[in-house]
Amino acid sequence: MDPTHAILFEPVKIGPVTAPNRFYQTPHATGLGWQRPQAGAALRGIKAEGGWGVVCTEYCSIHPTSDDSPHGFLTLWDDSDIPALALTADAIHAHGSLAGIELWHGGAHASNRMTRVPGISPDIQPAMFHLPTTARAMDASDIKAFRGWQRDAALRAKRAGFDIIYVYAGHDYLPFQFLSGRSNTRGDAYGGSLENRARLLREMIEDTKEAVGDTCAVAVRLAVDELHGPRGITSAGEGREVIEMLAELPDLWDVNIAGALGNDSKSARFSGEGFQEPYVAFVKSLTTKPVVSVGRFTSPETMVAQIKRGVQDFIGAARPSIADPFLPLKIREGRADEIRECIGCNMCRAANNEAVHLRCTQNPTMAEEWRQGWHPERIAVLPKRQKVLVVGAGPAGLEAALSLGRRGAEVSLAESGSALGGRILRESTLPGLGTWIRVRDWRAHMIGKLDNVQVYPGSEMTAGDIVDFGADHVVLATGSRWRRDGVGVTGMQVLDLPESLTPDDVFAGATVNGPAVIYDDEHYFMGGALAERLRAQGHPVCYVTPHAMASSWTALTDEQGFVQTQLLEAGVEIVASHLLVGQAAGVVRLACAYTGRVTERFCGTLIAVTGRLPVDDLYAPLMAAGIAVSRVGDCLQPSSIADAVYSAHRFARGFGAAVEPVLRREKPPLKGLL
Ligand code: ADP
Ligand code: SF4
Repeated sequence: MDPTHAILFEPVKIGPVTAPNRFYQTPHATGLGWQRPQAGAALRGIKAEGGWGVVCTEYCSIHPTSDDSPHGFLTLWDDSDIPALALTADAIHAHGSLAGIELWHGGAHASNRMTRVPGISPDIQPAMFHLPTTARAMDASDIKAFRGWQRDAALRAKRAGFDIIYVYAGHDYLPFQFLSGRSNTRGDAYGGSLENRARLLREMIEDTKEAVGDTCAVAVRLAVDELHGPRGITSAGEGREVIEMLAELPDLWDVNIAGALGNDSKSARFSGEGFQEPYVAFVKSLTTKPVVSVGRFTSPETMVAQIKRGVQDFIGAARPSIADPFLPLKIREGRADEIRECIGCNMCRAANNEAVHLRCTQNPTMAEEWRQGWHPERIAVLPKRQKVLVVGAGPAGLEAALSLGRRGAEVSLAESGSALGGRILRESTLPGLGTWIRVRDWRAHMIGKLDNVQVYPGSEMTAGDIVDFGADHVVLATGSRWRRDGVGVTGMQVLDLPESLTPDDVFAGATVNGPAVIYDDEHYFMGGALAERLRAQGHPVCYVTPHAMASSWTALTDEQGFVQTQLLEAGVEIVASHLLVGQAAGVVRLACAYTGRVTERFCGTLIAVTGRLPVDDLYAPLMAAGIAVSRVGDCLQPSSIADAVYSAHRFARGFGAAVEPVLRREKPPLKGLL
């Protein structure tokens, strides 16, 4: 280990327990929830194996009035929940780490769509989720019952084997709803002054300590700033006062900026490493208890500086631990160059928002530990050495070459361009997306360590070249191109767009004349980011979309609000709910998505961001020539970078297998039927 990193491996006492080092995997969603306990346990176990001294669960509901369906959340509603959670605690303990559990009540933020019981909150409050419903105000008996639920859940968590039990007052959830004057206008002892609004939080800490504090640490997760200015909790105002008030009460402070989750897990497009420091740095000066916070930390130097400068005692991480569960071990073993750094794309957040298994652009094995038996650091060696030619060195080709190389194949990677990276070379030049190049950099770096992988940039391969090469197997990772015919998610009609450009043309340096019209019927980052770039270059830009908002899919990556704000602030005109229906000299024709009414707009350059088509021209001739050939990534299915990497990794894992791998599912026992 680099001796300057040694400070990261000091043990830290948290109340009655001691963390073996300073690496603290803060609670994060996995989409697995109470329905998939074995998958959840395997995922957390891998984090512990990778060296995270503390590994926490995702949010764990303490009562059916807090149901986040359809999203994946845990439950400790009764004793029958204990065995499933004990799997996770055991998996974490197996590697000597501490197991933390984030007890949770969502209040007005819980949908209760499964349990169908009325939601509760400090005041009568419209549901904070997108639901036409209302949470009812808690009376004194509700508060008493609520305190009992937290206490009972803590006792169950202790029986399940957890070492750190959370009191969760962040992310707009119930204790935070009490805390914030924005959501609490009660007139009783739990409303009004900050002391009153913090009463429930204080009681929860005291109750939890009394219940389990003899052997378990009690952590408080607190949003010290909800980014709503003085109307809400701010780190210079009431956030600070709450810490002052309760400074020594919990065993650990887990602090962040929140309000909504999107603030806490801001994407790299809108925040840098350590972005929460200006808000949370004050906490340590007010308490002797250990403090943890997050900030997409991936650089050991930044981590060391956080500790030395007294910003926090632990290195809190959710996303960096998803992208590389073995980050701590790599630092400890002097292999910091091998850290697979999070790129801050928030695909992991999308998985939670879509209520599916966690997925990660950088780490294709995430949430596949149990259902497919994938390990982020280990992959089975091929029974016999095979010569594989991978064509194309975008994310899919690089991942295929690396994973096949790790399996012991003799790999040749041919790329027509002079540089490796494919689409990432272009996309990482867009505003805020510079970190995306890490997808290429990590893979290229790791490939460089393998003697059995040869890389050939500047090598455009024809079908004839490939046949002549004489590989045992050919993997086409030749990517995709943007469509020119206007066919997108909403507009399925083929259009004649003689004067239009695609994003490929813009990246290739085509001249853009203002006013530029960007037509986005793809809805992910490309349309919005191109609009931002062209605007920054001084063009008048009009962004048109058939959807009601800009870059609508980025709502799932928790970015949409930031994207639209940024576009508006930059002076991009947004025309929502309009389809592109045609183009003529100097104008585009747009139809209202609802009425069909057509209007014309002056346009210097039209850029159509619609669908993509696979670049798979080599596939048919190679098949016809009897070559063993497979397609991976965008060449098989144009999609996200995460999907391209996953597709290539899946191929590499299954390469040479006689049968399709089984995707294990956690099925309830059907007594008497099987
Ligand atoms: P993916 O996301 O699936 O990895 P990309 O579009 O990022 O796809 O990458 C595809 C890569 O394949 C590009 O770098 C492209 O230059 C390369 N490529 C496409 N056709 C050929 C070919 N015939 N020979 C070599 N490289 C190719
Ligand atoms: Fe980081 Fe993206 Fe992976 Fe999330 S999906 S952990 S943001 S690389």
